[in-house]
Amino acid sequence: MFKKLEVWFVTGSQDLYGPEVLKTVGQHSQEMAAFLTKSAKIPVSVVYKSVMRSLDEVTNICIEANTARQCIGIITWCHTFSPSKMWINGLKLLNKPLLQLHTQYNRDLPWGEIDMDFMNLNQAAHGDREHGFILSRLRKSRKVVVGYWKEDDVQERIGIWTRAATAWYDMQGSKLARFGDNMREVAVTEGDKVEAQIKLGLSVNTWPVGDIVKIINGVSKAAVDKLIKEYEEVYEIAKEGRPGGKYHDNVRYQAQIEAGIKSFLKDGGFKAFTTTFEDLHGLKQLPGLASQRLMAAGYGFGAEGDWKHAALVRAVKVMGDGLKGGCSFMEDYTYHLHPSGYKSLGAHMLEICPSIADGKAKIEVHPLSIGGKEDPARLVFNTLTGPATLTSMIDMGNRFRVIVHDVECVKPEAKLKKLPVANALWIPQPNLKVGAAAWIYAGGAHHNAFSQAITAEYIEDFCDIAGIECIAINKDTNINALKKELKWNEMYYLMAKGL
Ligand code: MN
Repeated sequence: MFKKLEVWFVTGSQDLYGPEVLKTVGQHSQEMAAFLTKSAKIPVSVVYKSVMRSLDEVTNICIEANTARQCIGIITWCHTFSPSKMWINGLKLLNKPLLQLHTQYNRDLPWGEIDMDFMNLNQAAHGDREHGFILSRLRKSRKVVVGYWKEDDVQERIGIWTRAATAWYDMQGSKLARFGDNMREVAVTEGDKVEAQIKLGLSVNTWPVGDIVKIINGVSKAAVDKLIKEYEEVYEIAKEGRPGGKYHDNVRYQAQIEAGIKSFLKDGGFKAFTTTFEDLHGLKQLPGLASQRLMAAGYGFGAEGDWKHAALVRAVKVMGDGLKGGCSFMEDYTYHLHPSGYKSLGAHMLEICPSIADGKAKIEVHPLSIGGKEDPARLVFNTLTGPATLTSMIDMGNRFRVIVHDVECVKPEAKLKKLPVANALWIPQPNLKVGAAAWIYAGGAHHNAFSQAITAEYIEDFCDIAGIECIAINKDTNINALKKELKWNEMYYLMAKGL
């Protein structure tokens, strides 16, 4: 999806410098945009627009950016000085994400040669400060990236922001389908769906399970055969699940669910969905393998009617698309509290995405202890080791809060021979005691969007773009400071929201 998308490179200046300098400013900007667009770290095109010299030009470019479908945000940079009053009208209108790139065309000071011409051309050092003032004065949320434009680190910061902006773009006007409502009496999976549409651009609606059952029952034998063939190629299948085995029909039924839900999602243009084991109507099994496969295909998913985490899983998948490491719906399930080191075992009843699997996943069929339905087929696997993030979104009543937690995935200490579900084992940062306390103080859900592709910076950029609260839990987390941050945020969001 990145290929068609653009960020616009807009350079600030003014007429004072005369045509000669402005021409050079334009050429330099063009060269920089062309360089950034080629960067492997930036997945979208960086398109040079023009050098801004007046209020009208700024206003026009902002209006254009707002209405251009392919434009996911703008990068501003002031090679020279650009008086900020001419930016006010345009920036007030701008509704696309903004990155302020604080760089300089010339890397080094030409010590022996430096003269006033050099100083007048290469003056981002103060031009971007004037620009920063007006953005702050307008309370305009943006990402500030500082450094020489050819540096890897600078490209990486910009790349992360473009991925966050792409997830934001993807969420605007997106549709999420819920099959059935929430798990009864559960609080954290509830939330204000009208507010989600106002704040996040996300449309969340519920469909009767009976309707999807009809579609699933209508899936052809040929479509199921085709999927079974694919399963045989991609996964290991337990003996009982193979043709002739006593559970083969259970695997076929999940293929039928997968094809049925997929056609519903495709036809309706949905990007995410939820299920609930408490409302399966005529479904013979809880969608296990089917939900896992649909997540791997890029759909957001939430169990127990959890639409907020379904939306997050989709957003995190978009941000991490093409990067090393997968993303899954996840749940903190059970702990290892041995004094040698606390660990958390993440899993779900069934629905963990195989994009995070360590090696080949295996299709197995086991009874489900709750729900009273047929034994569902599911993919079982361990997760790759290394750093990961857990992201949760909750509804605080007056706002959405996102919590992002750095964790380190580790190998199980022994084979989990009897565990019939996919799992991930991790050590939360800075450790389980502080990490879990911080998560619980912040009210983070038991569900999360687990990712080995993205870092907390992606989520922070996304929340800045969305204008929602973001609480990061990491190696520096201090409970005392976090409790204060939570209290101060209550005041900030209350006041920032106004009416
Ligand atoms: Mn759950």
